[in-house]
Amino acid sequence: MRLGIVLNASGGFKEDSSFLKKRSKRLLCSGLRDADIYASGNKSFLVLFFKKELLSSFLGCVALEVLDLFSPNVDERPGGPSSVNILMLHYTGMQSAQAAIDRLRDPDAKVSSHYVVAEDGAVFRLVPEELRAFHAGISYWRGRRVLNDVSIGIEIVNPGHEWGYRAFPEAQMDAVRELCSGIVSRHAIAARNVVGHSDVAPNRKQDPGELFDWRWLAACGIGFWTDAGESVAPDEAAARAALEAIGYSPEFGLDVLLTAFQRHFVPSRVTGELDPYTMGRLLAIAEEMGGATPTQSM
Ligand SMILES: [Zn+2]
Repeated sequence: MRLGIVLNASGGFKEDSSFLKKRSKRLLCSGLRDADIYASGNKSFLVLFFKKELLSSFLGCVALEVLDLFSPNVDERPGGPSSVNILMLHYTGMQSAQAAIDRLRDPDAKVSSHYVVAEDGAVFRLVPEELRAFHAGISYWRGRRVLNDVSIGIEIVNPGHEWGYRAFPEAQMDAVRELCSGIVSRHAIAARNVVGHSDVAPNRKQDPGELFDWRWLAACGIGFWTDAGESVAPDEAAARAALEAIGYSPEFGLDVLLTAFQRHFVPSRVTGELDPYTMGRLLAIAEEMGGATPTQSM
C-alpha cells in the first residue's frame, strides 16, 4: 500500500496537498515504513509506504493509489476503448525504475505502457486505459496481430536478462496483483488473454521472464494456470498444434515457441527443447485453454 504526495520544484509540500492532510497526516508519525522519490521534469513525486495493518484499518476502501506521470507516446485505439481484451505484462529491462519511466515518457523513444510498477510497489500511470500505448510492437496472439490496439500493457520494473535478472519482490507482486485484478474485471479480460510480452513476440522478447510467478497470479484470479501434465512421448506436429491452440504464432521455429511456452508454463526448464514433460504440459494446457478457434472470443 502506498500514498503519493506531489512535491513542487523546490521540494516543499504543496499547500493544497489535501491528500496528505486528509489521509496520511496521522500516519506519518506512527506508521511510516519507507519513502522513495521519483523525479519527472521539474516535479518530484514522493511515495510513502505505510504499514499494511495501519492502512487497512485507517483507510478502509483505499486499495491502490496510482500516480499519474503521463506519456506523450499515445493515440486513440482504432476500435475504441471497448476493444480492450488482452492484458500484457512486461519487465522494464533497464537499470532503474527512473530510467525506465524516463524512456517510456520520451517523445523520441516512441514507446510507452499504461502502467509501471516499481520494485517497492509504487504504481505509475503513463497512459489512460482507454487510449493506445506503444508497448507490444510486432506481436501475435490467438489469430490477432497489432496487439497494442486491444491490450493494456504493464511494465514491471526489473533489470531483466540483460542487466541482472532478479526475483520480483513481494511488495511489487502485491501491487501487480491489485492493478491486474482491477484491469481484468473492468475490461472482462479472459484468463487466456493475460499474456507476457514473450508469449506474443517470442522471437524478440524474454519478458517478464521465468522468474515471474504466473501460477501465483492465476491463484489470485488473474490469468490461466493448471498444474496438469504428465510426461508424454514428444511429437513435433502435436506440439505445434498445441502451441497454436494456446495462442502462439505459427510463424516461428519450434524451439523459439517452446522457449516462450516454457518461460510461462514450465519456468524450471527453459531449454527450447521438446522433452517429455514439456510435451505433457503442452497437451494439458492446450486442452484446458485452447479449443475455440483462435479468433473466437477475443
Ligand atoms: Zn516487453
